[in-house]
Amino acid sequence: MLEIRPIKAFSDNYIWAFQSENGVCAVDPGDAMPLLDWLAENRLSLATILLTHHHPDHIGGLASLRERFSSLQVYGPASIAGVTHPVSEGGKISLGELTLDVIATPGHTLDHLAYLGADFAFTGDTLFAAGCGRLFEGTPEMMYQSLSRLAGLPDTTRLYPAHEYTLANLYFAQACEPDNLAIKDRLVWAQQCMASKQPTLPVLLSTEKASNPFLRASLPSLAAAASSHTGCMVRPGLETFTILRQWKNEFVR
Ligand SMILES: [Zn+2]
Repeated sequence: MLEIRPIKAFSDNYIWAFQSENGVCAVDPGDAMPLLDWLAENRLSLATILLTHHHPDHIGGLASLRERFSSLQVYGPASIAGVTHPVSEGGKISLGELTLDVIATPGHTLDHLAYLGADFAFTGDTLFAAGCGRLFEGTPEMMYQSLSRLAGLPDTTRLYPAHEYTLANLYFAQACEPDNLAIKDRLVWAQQCMASKQPTLPVLLSTEKASNPFLRASLPSLAAAASSHTGCMVRPGLETFTILRQWKNEFVR
């Protein structure tokens, strides 16, 4: 199994890093410093960067890392300055023996990409543990479609989102489904992780399917929650997803 390390950046970002035959690959280095510190501690050199989207907390370290590592290969949406290898839907990235598939996952931004390995996925700000990204540029329909594609991966897929939002997301999930035992158990576990300053990530897709309301919008229980929140009849699927996403924006525990 590929060892993928979290490197903390800012208050709640993770820069995911792993070694391939080509050298170290880092995902979404919003800040160069923590990554440079980690590389120095481990006497490693950076070979590759993957970018999921253009927000500053994901690309902020790019310029200084490119200066520091002159042959750095940067994969990401063509819209980002500093990308040396633009990729898009259907693209493949070869890092030695490791091949990653690129899929477009618009919604949070229009240019958002996810990177898929054999049994793992870097989901950026599209799919979070127990949540999903805000809709800054895309429509609810785009995000619903993007999440549906990720939900179609094998249940054993390990997901690597870009933020530690799990606990706050689970409080919302519990408000949607107060009787869901998977959410209850996961909430206790996430509280313990936070108390001991441990990441709650990565997470298995099967866990998400059991407790992430945004992956459960087609279920009658979530449609009922969305209906009682709005006071109108909300249909399962996209309508429910749309209401849940709006509700989450306003949600205060
Ligand atoms: Zn973002």
